[in-house]
Amino acid sequence: MKCRVCKSLAVISLPRHNSAFCKEHFFEFFYNQVKKAIKEFRMFRPSERILVCVSGGKDSLSLWHALTVLGYPADGLYIDLGIGGYSEKSKEMAEKMANLLGRRLIIVEFGREYAPVNVVAKRARRSECSACGTIKRYYFNRVALEEGYDVVATGHNLDDEAARLLGNILRWHIPFIAKQLPVLEEENELKKKVKPLCRLTEQEIAAYAFLNRISYIRDECPMSQDSTSLLYKRALNLIEAESPGTKHFFYLEFLKQRDIFSVSPTNHDRTGIKRCEICGSASQTDICSFCRLVSYLQPLKT
Ligand SMILES: [Zn+2]
Ligand SMILES: [Zn+2]
Repeated sequence: MKCRVCKSLAVISLPRHNSAFCKEHFFEFFYNQVKKAIKEFRMFRPSERILVCVSGGKDSLSLWHALTVLGYPADGLYIDLGIGGYSEKSKEMAEKMANLLGRRLIIVEFGREYAPVNVVAKRARRSECSACGTIKRYYFNRVALEEGYDVVATGHNLDDEAARLLGNILRWHIPFIAKQLPVLEEENELKKKVKPLCRLTEQEIAAYAFLNRISYIRDECPMSQDSTSLLYKRALNLIEAESPGTKHFFYLEFLKQRDIFSVSPTNHDRTGIKRCEICGSASQTDICSFCRLVSYLQPLKT
């Protein structure tokens, strides 16, 4: 197998592009995909301050690494949810990357300050994944606001986005489909959110991490029960194996055609914003979803 560009020995084959690359030209391909996503969706400029949400997995660590290589000043945010050894190990990976890049890592000790996420979820009668999502979204935004970051970046990849799109289409959730873009503009104190890896597959990111010797936590989160998204990923991978290129066509063509799904913004979106009575952050209800979630812990704290 030879590199499509220089004909030297290839280290990775990409059936979806009907090509293979040596290490150097794979990196070139990888960075071009990241640059293309940033440019196409006007995610950020080099002068803006970027906060990368780091979980310790390959996607977020590769994102942080790639943005730094490309000259974007990005810092990391790690939220310790108190999931025992898993949290300790993933935090260590995030710290290691911060040292390697010479960038700041902000750590939020949720588990220590409140309770481990599984305890919170149990008290609130919510699934661990949904409690985890609420907590992470809250801190990403709050830390970005408090520390003066312009944009929050997450490591979602093409597989994640294609699986989500498939799920939304299977249920014809038109408003969700219309909003499923790799950039969400800033609104009502909600910071701009971007997904610069949306053009790269899980396999390509794993190769990037491997070739850069990035150490990351390989285990799935032990709390993870989001089996529907795994099912959609499996379904897409089955189709992809038979017909390479289908997955990226499915998602990237959607991005090109996205306007056919656009829904007009309603006044409700803008006028319905209040302040959370407990923490003061912008919220659609009197008490924000984070404060509601941790309120279930109160009998524990006294
Ligand atoms: Zn080459
Ligand atoms: Zn609140």
